[in-house]
Amino acid sequence: MFVASVPLGSALLVRQFDFAIGLAMNEVVLDSIPFHIDLDSLMRKLHLTEGSSSARELQRLASEAQAIAKPKAVYKVAFIESKGEDHVVVDGITLTSRVLRVNLEQAHRVFPYVATCGTELDEWSSSIDDMLQSYWADTIKEMALRVAMQALSEHLEDRFRPGHLSRMNPGSLPDWPIQEQRKLFALLGSPKDAIGVELTKSLIMVPLKSVSGISFPTEVGFASCQLCPRENCPGRRAPYDETLYDRKYRPGPN
Ligand code: SF4
Repeated sequence: MFVASVPLGSALLVRQFDFAIGLAMNEVVLDSIPFHIDLDSLMRKLHLTEGSSSARELQRLASEAQAIAKPKAVYKVAFIESKGEDHVVVDGITLTSRVLRVNLEQAHRVFPYVATCGTELDEWSSSIDDMLQSYWADTIKEMALRVAMQALSEHLEDRFRPGHLSRMNPGSLPDWPIQEQRKLFALLGSPKDAIGVELTKSLIMVPLKSVSGISFPTEVGFASCQLCPRENCPGRRAPYDETLYDRKYRPGPN
């Protein structure tokens, strides 16, 4: 029986990388995140019938994946040094986004992060030629990424008791474009050395099943989806609020 979860209170192996530059804080790596595949829910998600030859093939793939998977995350504790109208300076790096700036009104401490399904699963899946099985492998990698994000959230909660955390990702809104991804990676030193996630020249993360962002404490929960009108998005986490930008984020007249 496979179970997809990160047990609460599970001991996550934490490695720390000391930065010898100025007052920069350590980055912290979570690289011992338990990953168990719930085969029943995976079969339901992929619309496979128990006992079928496809289901047996999926079980074989899931066993292979579970044996090698190492989802990971890296984060650091960073401090806001100053705030402008449409930017914040975090550990010496200027992040330009009006929405992020407003969301950080009450914050002094943030948690930049990168989480990933891991290079192990990524390399394993790249050897699969069959298109359907490749899609199944992608689904497994998405599960691993979700588990990494869940482990990171629980770790931040346990270690810092920050209250309610929201997060923003560069590129999720025109207000915080994908080009800001470079700054986020710079804040974290070298996510490639830490957890194997590389940023290409075209700003794509490799492995593709990786996510980067900033977690921050908020009294009122925020999700970028509230400001995104895209219809039928399978990743939507909150309804679109047509008037939110004007109510909360539009700069006032000078
Ligand atoms: S609705 Fe979809 S595209 Fe828009 S921010 Fe949410 S997840 Fe991203």
